[in-house]
Amino acid sequence: MTFGIHNIVGIHRLHTGQKNYSTPLIFKTYKQWSYWQRKAFDYLIWCHLDRAVEFSVALLCWFWIFPLTFSEANEWHFQWVFRVFLFNIACEFTTYPFWHWITHARRSPYAQGPLHEKKFNPVNPYEDKGQDHLLREITFTTLGWLQSSFVQCIFMWLWASGRLPYYGDFWSRPFFSIFILLSVTYWSAFHFYWSHRFMHPWWSVRNGIREGDIGAFLYRHFHSLHHRSHNPGPWSGLSMHPVEHFFYYTRAYFPLLFSCHPLHFLYAKFQADIGPISGHDGHDNPAGGAAFHYLHHAFFECNYGTPLIDFDRLFGTYKQFVKKPINK
Ligand SMILES: [Zn+2]
Ligand SMILES: [Zn+2]
Repeated sequence: MTFGIHNIVGIHRLHTGQKNYSTPLIFKTYKQWSYWQRKAFDYLIWCHLDRAVEFSVALLCWFWIFPLTFSEANEWHFQWVFRVFLFNIACEFTTYPFWHWITHARRSPYAQGPLHEKKFNPVNPYEDKGQDHLLREITFTTLGWLQSSFVQCIFMWLWASGRLPYYGDFWSRPFFSIFILLSVTYWSAFHFYWSHRFMHPWWSVRNGIREGDIGAFLYRHFHSLHHRSHNPGPWSGLSMHPVEHFFYYTRAYFPLLFSCHPLHFLYAKFQADIGPISGHDGHDNPAGGAAFHYLHHAFFECNYGTPLIDFDRLFGTYKQFVKKPINK
């Protein structure tokens, strides 16, 4: 679901009137494959290629920021902590505004062109609800990035000071390293379902809220903030209460359980930071294409997870988008 080069090329193709705008860049026969071939491809290959932006940012952080900071990280000093925060905030204010511009800006030729036809809800939330709505989403998104930057600093300090085991040579354990790296995407989808589901009422709300429902309590006090964006846009994804940010980012805490490479942590962290953009951009393919989660914002008690690890079909909470079926 994450935006990447294929989304940008697809949007540009759509804008310039090309019919095969959503063809995956190198797999041009995808639509002619059988159902199971496409499913196998999606689950084994595409879900990883789809995370190219997050992986690139994680690599950049490892090869650029770690050499500048890690040797000092055994003690808390302003300089290295500041660099880590600066890198993260720079990532936020590059990726989020860029996708906002492409999909929603008044002066963007793309947002005002044929891409607008792909919007699930034709109303632009940032024009309809005004500056306060946008400012609230930017503020809470930034609080999310600040929290994840802080978590990154804590892990760097734990590793550098010898308090937590890790290994720095990725290829010293090639099979383990690749296995954990590929697992991050499935783990993130699994974790997202459960960390999200437990912030909605645990029992059916058809007959009202049950007394003592912890999920209803968490929804009312924390998760409802995320649901103020009924018609989501790119800034809605990380617009959460800091308590929800805490639960959300625990997906990247797995280095507490076993020794891994910092890149594993960074990949999980940046998936959590950047992944929500396309999951909430409110447009069908060739933009984010996240009708699944759009319906969660529109109807609340459905589609809690993601299509990758589909607990919703298993537990009967799946809702299909019928107005404009997704065309891959
Ligand atoms: Zn959401
Ligand atoms: Zn929710």
